[in-house]
Amino acid sequence: MLRGLRALLIDMDGVVYRGDEPLPGAQDLVPTLQRLGIRFCFVTNNATLTPQQFQAKLANMAIKVDADRIVTSPEATAHYLQGIAEPGTPVLVVGEHGLVHALEEAGFVVSRNQPAFVVVGLDRQLTYERLAAACLAIQDGAQLVATNADPAIPVPQGMFPGAGALLAAIVTATGATPTIIGKPAPTLLQVALERIGSRPEEAAMVGDQLGTDIAAGRAAGMSTILVEGTPGRPVPGVEPDLQVRNLAHLLELLLAAEIEPSSR
Ligand SMILES: [Mg+2]
Repeated sequence: MLRGLRALLIDMDGVVYRGDEPLPGAQDLVPTLQRLGIRFCFVTNNATLTPQQFQAKLANMAIKVDADRIVTSPEATAHYLQGIAEPGTPVLVVGEHGLVHALEEAGFVVSRNQPAFVVVGLDRQLTYERLAAACLAIQDGAQLVATNADPAIPVPQGMFPGAGALLAAIVTATGATPTIIGKPAPTLLQVALERIGSRPEEAAMVGDQLGTDIAAGRAAGMSTILVEGTPGRPVPGVEPDLQVRNLAHLLELLLAAEIEPSSR
């Protein structure tokens, strides 16, 4: 599988870093992939930052990448909405700057005034008042869309509530059925593959969560590589094609695999 590999999509939280700490192999990743001629793109369900802010976060850990090598769930969400709604459509956002930025860039108007969509991502300043506004909008006919449904996010202290936990509050209150864009749905990965001009058959998804990363890779028709380290919930029926200790271990295997010269 590694020999035929032409492209990697790489999850960030729990794979490249945890909090603001780079994980083993993270700083060698980009130069090694460039040397081997393997295309790459970082993908994240994290809806709080823009690609430029992720680029700066990586740069602070001495990991240098172009911002267009980072695809976030807000970008994929905006891409999805562009397919079903006109520019200028009002959307109510439960989320942070990264989500607001992506939706505005895509031509949507972030507003509480008669929104056609309620778009939910992680929001660490969420208030009861905003939750209530989102629920009222749904009762008035707005469709519910979520960047992702991660129940929790890894931080150095343990696990904090994720976008899925906030989404659950709205779903519980309204009975609405959300459309979920990020992993484990394949949309985010499809947008990233398109960005780097790669086909799913020649690409692998690298991630630390079976239920999101590995399931999304499968759904997108890619090979899958699980990075151990973050204890996740066991997911019946979801198994990676390859399991590695960390990125350093993956790079060792890639260097030993003698990637076919045609890929260089
Ligand atoms: Mg992760």
